[in-house]
Amino acid sequence: MPWPLRDGRPASLHRAGGGDPVDCHSLLRTATTVKAMRRDDTVVLTEQQRLVRNSIRDVCESFDAAYWRECDAEERYPHAFVDELADHGWFGALIPDEYGGAGMTTEEVVVMMEEIAACGGGFSAAQAIHGAIYNSVPLVTYGSEELKSELLPDVSAGDVSIQAFGLTEPNAGSDSTSIETRAVRDDDEYVIDGQKIWTSRVDVSDYVLLMARTTPKADVEKRTRGISMFLVDLEDAFDQGALEIERIEKTASRGVHAFEMWLEGLRVPAEALVGEEGNGFYQMLDGLNEERLVIAAECIGLGEAAIDAAADYAAEREVFGRPIGANQAIQHPLAEAHARVQAAKQLVYSTASVVSGSDGEDDATDVGARANMSKFLAADAAYEAADTAVQTHGGFGVAREYDVERYFREARLTRLVPITQELALNYVGEKVLGLPRSY
Ligand SMILES: Cc1cc2nc3c(=O)[nH]c(=O)nc-3n(C[C@H](O)[C@H](O)[C@H](O)COP(=O)(O)OP(=O)(O)OC[C@H]3O[C@@H](n4cnc5c(N)ncnc54)[C@H](O)[C@@H]3O)c2cc1C
Repeated sequence: MPWPLRDGRPASLHRAGGGDPVDCHSLLRTATTVKAMRRDDTVVLTEQQRLVRNSIRDVCESFDAAYWRECDAEERYPHAFVDELADHGWFGALIPDEYGGAGMTTEEVVVMMEEIAACGGGFSAAQAIHGAIYNSVPLVTYGSEELKSELLPDVSAGDVSIQAFGLTEPNAGSDSTSIETRAVRDDDEYVIDGQKIWTSRVDVSDYVLLMARTTPKADVEKRTRGISMFLVDLEDAFDQGALEIERIEKTASRGVHAFEMWLEGLRVPAEALVGEEGNGFYQMLDGLNEERLVIAAECIGLGEAAIDAAADYAAEREVFGRPIGANQAIQHPLAEAHARVQAAKQLVYSTASVVSGSDGEDDATDVGARANMSKFLAADAAYEAADTAVQTHGGFGVAREYDVERYFREARLTRLVPITQELALNYVGEKVLGLPRSY
């Protein structure tokens, strides 16, 4: 699958900065321009980033607010949206050219994921495809050449999905090295037993990237050792009768399902081991900062969607004979939320330039600190934006048809995943401020 921007949709470039070609009502045109400015004017995009943004906007145009509202209300995965992206090669965003991918960098992926959320899909839209893009990254770096050439072209083409990643367990969330799921070598196989919780998208995935202990925690010198990474074929696991799953009822991102998983006597071939036995935790950490940065970008997009909806509503809704947006009690919180979202966006985008090598040195600790600060600031900014959007809507703020209540639920979730705000601060406290480690 080719790099979607090279020969996918070059026409969209010509639309950059353009207004609505259909509606010539001048006021509406002004409103459209202002709306685009709300999120486009604070960061100067590279040519490639503009192409990504425009291509994603083209895809998102076909999926309006009603579509996302229905997915949430009916707890329905957004298959049509995800298929559209998969068909256009976006699952291969981070897969190199030689395996049919787009070979994009974090600098472009932050734009892609921010835009998906900002277009109205919110955090759940980004979550719907996040795993499909990120779970192939360890395979690219650590997978055998055989595995890569067999699997990655199909992932790039959108024919195979590795949407699920299983690390968290009932007794190991933030303290992830305490996982107890065991993988024991038996000739040319591993036998896996254990339990996972909160594994997202198992129902829409062909494979799960599973973290299991090959050496118990008690027997390793360092707790980060003895954990291995496996690529598990889900259909085979179900066929063996060695995997049971149960959906977790939840309030946010209701269209993207998360599961509890029980693994009992699951046999996987030795080739299912990704990278080196016992080194899986480090392999996982390898791409973590960049992934965290992209999640921050998803929070930014969510915050922008909330502010967009609220600013539109504030301009239209009249109370006491004038638009509520004329009141500073409505205007200032929105302006403040916008400023906070855009400030977080600056850190996300400047860090993305650093990790993509286009702006200075890539120092691991510095990038780790920036990625954690980005996630912390972006999630908080999204939460404040969504809360303000609900308040702006008055009673309608909790009515499903105005969408901001959904954004609010999702914004709350962003403060918990993929790591909690506290754990992001722990990193900064220890690595940047030199304070004692508490985790
Ligand atoms: C919708 C959803 C989807 C998810 N998808 C996946 C997935 O696909 N794959 C996967 O592996 N996991 C997934 N997770 C799990 C997620 O990564 C964890 O929920 C998260 O890491 C927090 O772990 P926990 O829930 O066990 O909280 P705990 O670790 O039990 O923490 C509880 C609270 O204590 C605080 N706390 C704990 N220790 C400290 C400390 N030292 N200092 C300060 N505060 C502390 C935490 O910040 C938190 O507020 C998902 C979770 C959710 C809710």
